[in-house]
Amino acid sequence: MNLFKKGTFLGILALAFFLSAFSSVTNWGFFAHRRINRLAVFTLPIDLIPFYKKHIDYLTENAVGPDKRRYAVATEGIRHYIDLDIWGTLPFETLPRNIVNARRSYTEVIVLNNQNDTIRLFGQQMELDADGSLILKGNNFQQFFKRDSLFIDQEDYEDFFYEKIYNPLYEKEWAMDCVELQNYFDRYDFVLPCDKAIAVDTFVEHGVLPYNLVRLQRNLTKAMEAMDSGLILRLSADMGHYIGDAHVPLHTTSNYNGYQTDQIGIHAFWETRLPELFADEQFDYFVGQATYIENPSSYYWNIVLNSHSLVTDVLSIEKELSQTYPKDQQDCFVERGTGAMQNIPCVAYAEKYHLLLDGQVEQQMRAAIKAVGDAWYTAWINAGQPDLSRVYRKKANLEDQKEKEELERTFNLGKILGRKH
Ligand SMILES: [Zn+2]
Repeated sequence: MNLFKKGTFLGILALAFFLSAFSSVTNWGFFAHRRINRLAVFTLPIDLIPFYKKHIDYLTENAVGPDKRRYAVATEGIRHYIDLDIWGTLPFETLPRNIVNARRSYTEVIVLNNQNDTIRLFGQQMELDADGSLILKGNNFQQFFKRDSLFIDQEDYEDFFYEKIYNPLYEKEWAMDCVELQNYFDRYDFVLPCDKAIAVDTFVEHGVLPYNLVRLQRNLTKAMEAMDSGLILRLSADMGHYIGDAHVPLHTTSNYNGYQTDQIGIHAFWETRLPELFADEQFDYFVGQATYIENPSSYYWNIVLNSHSLVTDVLSIEKELSQTYPKDQQDCFVERGTGAMQNIPCVAYAEKYHLLLDGQVEQQMRAAIKAVGDAWYTAWINAGQPDLSRVYRKKANLEDQKEKEELERTFNLGKILGRKH
């Protein structure tokens, strides 16, 4: 290897390091997440604000807890986004808003017989015929069932799916019991040659952000009913994080970091670089009082649908700018927090992009602050407006402590399980 080549190689290595260091600061950056949780406290009404204000430092600090968990828990990443474009186009009317219904369409059971032949059942192997009957078919159907297809009762199948197949953890694959499957097919007088079976979900990998918010809204209500302060705080901080993510347009598309449009790095540009440069100087954070959420499902869906409607602008505006702006003035080496140098969008370039976005980042950050307040307030109302000055604090037990230490350890190792954004 000659010197020139070696130099180039080291240069690429260094660049890769800087880029990865920058892109690991993800999801509104830690800066914006903390700011959103902190400011949401001030949207709360007089009866609720004392409790949240007392713990405002906890809520601020733990606004980034869910991002840290992505280093420790494989099923964490998908809670931070939803690739809506996978499921069609706005307003995605055919995409079920209920997670069980959505996953039922994309979970299949793979059965292996004792000759190592396989068959895929349910999920996309089913069809609705003209009169609304459900037909089970697929490859190898003849071999396993000695016929081409089978009519099954829809309602009965939905019950069976929920009770025996559905997995409330967001896992991609899990074991199924051949006996349970045979019990199901008994009603159709079929013997299923089954040696081994697994269920495979192809839905959750594209993200569950709005579904998870609906679930958390319920859990926060329950924590308030139970007056468990530790849980209330943890779930409040978590909700603040995911609601923040839901307001980032690039958290709603499979082109989340510009890989499909040759705009790699745009994720951190929009959600980290712009807020860090302009939020404190320019943004108006007065967002008014929290209001009650009548229907959490449509409320959270509207947030992600609105974010998704902004994706085109986020990408096309930067694309056009990058083609007209001097190439050598787009990225700069900048010293960041830890003293490490990073190659990130230059201030002037960022300023121009920010100007062309016409207040989009501010508008989304303000909406996020208000929505976090709405979520906390709504849980409190639905829990019957408990007097939170009387909550008790469960002593942090050994398990909580261990979990916290493990989180810190894996976060410091710096390897995200699943994708980065
Ligand atoms: Zn996140």
